Amino acid sequence: MKYIFIFLVPWILFSCKSTKEFTGFSYDPPDVTNTTDKEITPQKKRIIGVGEPVVWVSNMFDGARLSDFYMAEDSVLEAYIKPENGPINNSPWFAFKIWSDTTQKVDIRLNYEEASHRYIPKVNRWNNGKWEYVKKASFTVDDSTETALISITVDTEPVVISAQPLFTTNVLNEELQKRGILNADYVYRREVGKSKQGRPIWEIEINETQAAEVAPVLVILSRQHPPEVSGFRASLFFLEEFTSDSELAKRFRETFIIKAYPMINPDGSDEGHWRHNTGGVDLNRDWVHFNQAETRAVQQALLPLKNQKNRKVFYGIDFHSTNENIFYPILKKIKTEPDDFTQQWAQRITAKHKEAAFTSEEFDTSSPISKNWIFRTFGADAVTYEIHDEMQADDIERLSRSASKLLMEMLLEAWSKTNY
Ligand SMILES: [Zn+2]
Repeated sequence: MKYIFIFLVPWILFSCKSTKEFTGFSYDPPDVTNTTDKEITPQKKRIIGVGEPVVWVSNMFDGARLSDFYMAEDSVLEAYIKPENGPINNSPWFAFKIWSDTTQKVDIRLNYEEASHRYIPKVNRWNNGKWEYVKKASFTVDDSTETALISITVDTEPVVISAQPLFTTNVLNEELQKRGILNADYVYRREVGKSKQGRPIWEIEINETQAAEVAPVLVILSRQHPPEVSGFRASLFFLEEFTSDSELAKRFRETFIIKAYPMINPDGSDEGHWRHNTGGVDLNRDWVHFNQAETRAVQQALLPLKNQKNRKVFYGIDFHSTNENIFYPILKKIKTEPDDFTQQWAQRITAKHKEAAFTSEEFDTSSPISKNWIFRTFGADAVTYEIHDEMQADDIERLSRSASKLLMEMLLEAWSKTNY
C-alpha cells in the first residue's frame, strides 16, 4: 500500500502539469492564442472606375473593405475581398460604395481570399448624414467557388453594399445619444484607453447605487469582432433598457452598477476588418496575456473592482454574432457566483422566445476569452451571448428588450439571496 502511494503522487503531479494548453476552438485558425502583434496589410483606399458606361466603386469611408475591382470577359464585375491578415476565421466582411454614370443593371461577383461567402449582402443608402440599411441585395452563392453573385441596378446615386449594416465608431456615439443612454445624471461615459490607432475605448457606467453599500457589478462587453453587428445592436438595447424609466430598471440601477464597453475593437470596425484589431490579433483570445491595447484598457478599468470592498463583480455578458442564436455558458460543474445563472437565464429566454431557437453549449474555463477572465478574476458567472448574423432589426429589438428585463429581475433575485 505504501509503495502504491509513493508511485501515485508523482504520477498525479505529472499528469496535471501535462494538461494540454488551450490552442483554439474548432473554428479558430492555428496560433490564434499567440496574441503578440502580427503584421496586417493596410487597405489601399481608392476609387476605381470600370467599363463603359463607367461603374464606379470606392472604399474611402469608415467600415469599407474592398481590395480590388475589375471587369471580367463575361462583363461580370469582380470584387476581391482580402482580410487584414491571415490565417483568420471565416468572417469575410465586405463594404463598398458603388454608382454609375448611367442607370444600368450589373452583376458583381464577391471573391474572398481564403474564405467562403458568409454574409447576405445589404444595400445601404445615405440618409441624414449616415449610411442606412435599406434592403438585401439579390444574389446567388456558387458553392464550388465559394463566391456570391449580386445582381443590382446602379445609377448616379451611390449605395453601399456591405456584409452587415454599417455600425462604425461614429454610429456608436449617435446611437448612445439617440437612445437616451447618455442623458441621465447616473450615466457616466469615460475613455478608459485608446486602441492601437488611437481611437477611444469607451466605458459607459450606469450607477444609481448608494456609495456606502456593497454594490454588485454587471459587466457588458461587445464588438471584439468587427462584423458581429447583430450582437452589438443587441447590447445597445440592453443598455437602453437599463436606463429606462421603468420601475424594474430603476430598482436595478439602485442595486447594480453596470460597466459597459460596447466597442472594444474600434479600429477593426472602422477599418473594415474581418475579425482582428490593427495588431492583427483576435482580441477575444487575448484575455490571459493582454498583449493588445484594447483588451488591456478594459482589464485595467475593471481590475480595481477586485480590491474594492463595496463592489462585487457578479455577472458578465460578452455579445457576439454567429450563424445561430447560441449561449456559451460556463460548464455547470464549475462553481461560479452566482452559480449556473446563465443556464437559468437561458432557460427563461428560450421558454419565452421559442421563435428565436436558442441553443446552448457549455465550455470549461481554459480558453483565453473575456468570459473566462471574468470568472478567473472575480469568481463570477459570465456568458458569451451570440445572436444570429442575419437576425432582423425588429427581432433583435424584441428579443433584447425582453431578455434584458428577465436579466434584471433574475439578477436582483440572485443578489438578494447572497450574504453581501
Ligand atoms: Zn465573436
